Amino acid sequence: TVVTRFAPSPTGYLHVGGARTALYSWLVAKAAGGKFVLRIEDTDRERSTQPAIDAILEGMEWLGLNWDEGPYYQTKRFDRYEHYIDKLLAEDKAYKCYCSQERLEQMREEQMARGEKPRYDGHCRDNPNVSGERYVVRFRNPQTGAVKFNDHIRGPIEFANTELDDLIIARSDGTPTYNFCVVIDDWEMNITHVVRGEDHINNTPRQINILQALGAPVPEYAHVSMILGDDGKKLSKRHGAVSVMQYRDDGYLPQAVLNYLVRLGWSHGDQEIFSIDEMIKLFSLDDVNKAASAFNTEKLNWLNQHYMKSLPVSEVAEHLQWHFSDQAVDVSKGPALEKIIPLLADRVKTLKEMVVAARYFYEEYEDFEEGAAKKHLRPVAREALATVQQRLQALTTWDAATIQAAIQGVADDLEVGMGKVGMPLRVAVTGGGNSPSLDVTLELLDQDQVVRRIDRAIS
Ligand code: GLU
Repeated sequence: TVVTRFAPSPTGYLHVGGARTALYSWLVAKAAGGKFVLRIEDTDRERSTQPAIDAILEGMEWLGLNWDEGPYYQTKRFDRYEHYIDKLLAEDKAYKCYCSQERLEQMREEQMARGEKPRYDGHCRDNPNVSGERYVVRFRNPQTGAVKFNDHIRGPIEFANTELDDLIIARSDGTPTYNFCVVIDDWEMNITHVVRGEDHINNTPRQINILQALGAPVPEYAHVSMILGDDGKKLSKRHGAVSVMQYRDDGYLPQAVLNYLVRLGWSHGDQEIFSIDEMIKLFSLDDVNKAASAFNTEKLNWLNQHYMKSLPVSEVAEHLQWHFSDQAVDVSKGPALEKIIPLLADRVKTLKEMVVAARYFYEEYEDFEEGAAKKHLRPVAREALATVQQRLQALTTWDAATIQAAIQGVADDLEVGMGKVGMPLRVAVTGGGNSPSLDVTLELLDQDQVVRRIDRAIS
């Protein structure tokens, strides 16, 4: 069975690049009916934090990237790593290195002075006379030949073993090092496909050599490219949101973010919209682009609007409810969210904007929008407002058609265009000059409320 994993280091929130890697990895598992493992790589105790772990789990859950196994924590697996360090030492596939910091530094300086790439010179590798109190454990890397692998995204890749030195696998305090933990975990967790960022590509030949020394199978690899901002620079906070949860806070639906992420570096013809099921069916690592992908907020907005309009309205309502609560707006006494979503989905890009646009359904607006009031609430509009108020107040049926007929009746009687009645009424009722069609907007408000708001505008 196919087993993939996402293995974040909890040193910060779940960012866009990490989320895309997680999604690709998740899709590979889902497509094959396999398993998706979540592993928290928290061995760097100084930089790993519990809030970061929580943020990563929250981001994965919000996106719906459910894991079948885990989360595993590397800090809880030290006995496993120690077991294999001892095994490699016993088999002479690793050795103790007693070189002092001073010696290593001097070696490095000399190598750099000669214009060479600094690498361990193998002093303790085959020297039975070395000894001391402090030592690290180094992996005995092959000294000839090459490591080859066929990257799903980047094609055939080859590293000469002479490029790789003898990697430290245990520090002088006995703790295992990063690359070693990854190797043991990928093996013990039966990972068949490693999908990760291209920044790890140099680790891959070292990891393969260790796997082979342990007699472990070598998984397949796919190294995903970076995501750049729309200015072509490495994506960072400058470009706006980079944390996945920031997208929730900014009013994006998880489906839109997923669809956006899957398209960042992967395509299927010129199709832009992919349901989760379609992604699972169509996604393939071999179709992922190896060039860096550029972030494009407009496209995300476009996708978000698409999903606000096309997802089941009850699902959108759940997310919208979160935003109203976040803004401390009580919606329990106003129209059902399911009713306002179809009215507004075309007019806003995000759920956060929808809250702004729909606030007047649930709360009195604070003040009239200045420009709209100046233009539409002039003294000449008062007659129209007073008349329309009377007619609306007298209605015994409160639905869009009756409301529409009443407004039209006022325009006819006063011999003015609909706009001369409709716009003042709109500003009176919603506080601004921008709202969905008046008949449906008023229908969703209480009759009394509408009458009171007109009072507010003409008093
Ligand atoms: N922990 C690594 C990171 O967050 C990923 C390692 C891997 O996927 O092998 O960058």
